Amino acid sequence: MDFLPFTRPTIDEATIADVGDVLRSGWITSGPKVKAFEAALSEYFGGRPVRVLNSATGGMEVALRLIDLQPGDEVITTPLSWVATGNVILNTGAKPVFVDIDPITRNIDLNLVEPAITPATKAIMPVDLAGLPVDRDKLYDIAHRHNLRVIEDAAQSMGATWGGRRVGSFGDLISISFHANKNLTTSEGGCLVLNDEAQIPLFEKLRLQGVVRFPDGNMDVDLAGGKYNLTDIAAVIGLNQLKHIDAFTSKRKQLAQHYFDKLDTSLGLGLPLADFEHSNWHMFQITLPLNRLTINRGDFIQAMHTKGIGVGVHYPAMHLFTLYRQLGWQEGDFPHAEQVGRETITLPLFPLMEITNVERVCEAVHEIVSANLH
Ligand SMILES: *Cc1c(COP(=O)(O)O)cnc(C)c1O
Repeated sequence: MDFLPFTRPTIDEATIADVGDVLRSGWITSGPKVKAFEAALSEYFGGRPVRVLNSATGGMEVALRLIDLQPGDEVITTPLSWVATGNVILNTGAKPVFVDIDPITRNIDLNLVEPAITPATKAIMPVDLAGLPVDRDKLYDIAHRHNLRVIEDAAQSMGATWGGRRVGSFGDLISISFHANKNLTTSEGGCLVLNDEAQIPLFEKLRLQGVVRFPDGNMDVDLAGGKYNLTDIAAVIGLNQLKHIDAFTSKRKQLAQHYFDKLDTSLGLGLPLADFEHSNWHMFQITLPLNRLTINRGDFIQAMHTKGIGVGVHYPAMHLFTLYRQLGWQEGDFPHAEQVGRETITLPLFPLMEITNVERVCEAVHEIVSANLH
């Protein structure tokens, strides 16, 4: 049987042809396709200003400069995310302030945010883990009452909604990733949804070396920007993906529903929140009943591989990484995030999968878990 990876991008022949056209055009870096992609994304996000970059990490770095985050400032966020979320804060000299997750949603526990606010708090950086949105009503209520900025690490949220509105179509600054594994990909890339047209010139300076060009061919630089521009090669992939995002999301929902129908929770498997209203089902993540098993997570992953199935770990709690421990965090700080981080397994879920693949995965999980219970 074919190896079933935990994810795989859907790239059609039209995309491959369009990439070929860009390569033949003589202009392969940022150009007309980037502009067209930005316009299409802006339309998708209800007319808000959108700019693309070569990664969502870069998008968050630029966003933190847009809000003028300074060394000593604090940003409240979740320890259960891709480490980019914490790293971008550290790299500004500011301080990430982690609070624990809600074990049901596995997202930041918004009830813990207000008690963590200090005079140094500048922003909240929520993460929609697996594409399940953090409660936007509650989030923005807290932000407005305390006059805080919000940088949504919505890396995984393309196609997710809140209150019937697309994530990205409302709110403060929203960063979305187009990494190969995300619901919409440009191979590598991302976008930042801005909330104010007036921020575009500063954004564009920060995106490319601080350069401002004048009609007479001259240029000037008044701040040190970075190197974050997306290529036209990547942008045409994104333009093609955008046509299919609704179909991708509905296929993901259908597959996720089938996991709920088939997975046997009597074995102690922990399921994600069954949200079929807001989530884009970027990932389907179970937790393993490690305290009832004679094997560890590494053994489980190996046993799945032996059965021809790829699984992932997204993510270990980041405050337990060496760098973060050196900064003072330790085991026990965020028990819910630590437990999910230890037990989580990402099962295969991507639009090209079929219902029968879900059944194969569930059978494999059940066999391995039931054979190793003590
Ligand atoms: C993928 C991801 C990122 C980083 O996106 P890149 O485009 O790879 O820089 C950041 N945060 C979360 C939660 C992610 O899943």
